[in-house]
Amino acid sequence: MYKATLIPGDGIGPEVIKAATSVIEAAGVNIQWDEKPIGQAAMAKYNNPLPQDTINSIESNRIALKGPSTTEIGKGFRSANISLRQRLNLYANIRPIRTIEGANTKFKDIDLVIFRENTEDLYMGIEHMVGKDAAESIKIITREASERIASMAFSYAVKEKRRKVTCAHKANVMKLSDGLFLSSVRNVASKYPDIEYEEVIVDSLFMKMVMNPENYDILVLPNLYGDLLSEMSAGLVGGLGVVPGVNIGVEAAVFEPTHGTAPDIAGKGIANPTAAILCAVMLLKHLGEKAASERIYNSVCHVIKEGKYVTRDLGGSYSTMDMTKAIIDNM
Ligand code: NAD
Repeated sequence: MYKATLIPGDGIGPEVIKAATSVIEAAGVNIQWDEKPIGQAAMAKYNNPLPQDTINSIESNRIALKGPSTTEIGKGFRSANISLRQRLNLYANIRPIRTIEGANTKFKDIDLVIFRENTEDLYMGIEHMVGKDAAESIKIITREASERIASMAFSYAVKEKRRKVTCAHKANVMKLSDGLFLSSVRNVASKYPDIEYEEVIVDSLFMKMVMNPENYDILVLPNLYGDLLSEMSAGLVGGLGVVPGVNIGVEAAVFEPTHGTAPDIAGKGIANPTAAILCAVMLLKHLGEKAASERIYNSVCHVIKEGKYVTRDLGGSYSTMDMTKAIIDNM
């Protein structure tokens, strides 16, 4: 029996996280879930978007499955997601972007993994007004954080037998901050002579990715560019509803789908559960439950390829739970 923290989150979070836990249970892996709130759900209960109790639970279990949580735009409380990543030092955000046959996409054969630095850059939230009509945001890049995300990307490349690592930057303009990121990644790359290494300016990368995404394998980026690229890349394989992810550090791993709380469809039972279920696949692999993880992955692919019991965003008319049941039945 494993122990893990369960954070259903806000909006469609509870619906898709329920789908993920049902599939894990059906695969025969026994996890004792410690359910905790975050974001709006935590504000309502504790007037705190990131209660200490939730952090303690993740620290003790070292593994969490999390749904999306609400962050207001331009006002309100600080993003609980960003605070969580900083508090637990979840320094890497990893997103596998893989074509699933049958998902609505213009591309085939995409199989890449994005490693996004998760703790610094402009997302440290260090900003202030300068007088009434100007605002200043401070971008922090350190060698330590840049080298550790690069090391994680390269060691993953070796472990998973991948061929190439691409580093994206804008060091032609931000010569010091992005320059430091670039030289740090280059330094790590020099220790892995068997892995092909390339560097690309981030705007050029976006163009190349929408033309030939199959050319990329492992990508390593600072926080802001990584966030943008992850979202864009989700669009290449069928949208937010099908892409999982993990925020991971030395002490803990928090698995969560790429998508947000989807307030437009929340509570209707029509959200695509795939991203959350693929988070369960990643979580099980992390636990060493390889067979169960592969069984679930294959079943998800089968159900989407068949195209019958799928949700609206995948061209079907079935509910979150209908699709989940089809995945379970096919396992
Ligand atoms: P969103 O991902 O919630 O929604 C964008 C669009 O994609 C919507 O039309 C939505 O219906 C659709 N969509 C998203 N997930 C889907 C799914 N599983 N199935 C079917 N359709 C799906 O993005 P947003 O509207 O920009 O953000 C809404 C809220 O979510 C904001 O408060 C934002 O801060 C938060 N958010 C949280 C996280 C997180 O907790 N990790 C991530 C992104 C956004």
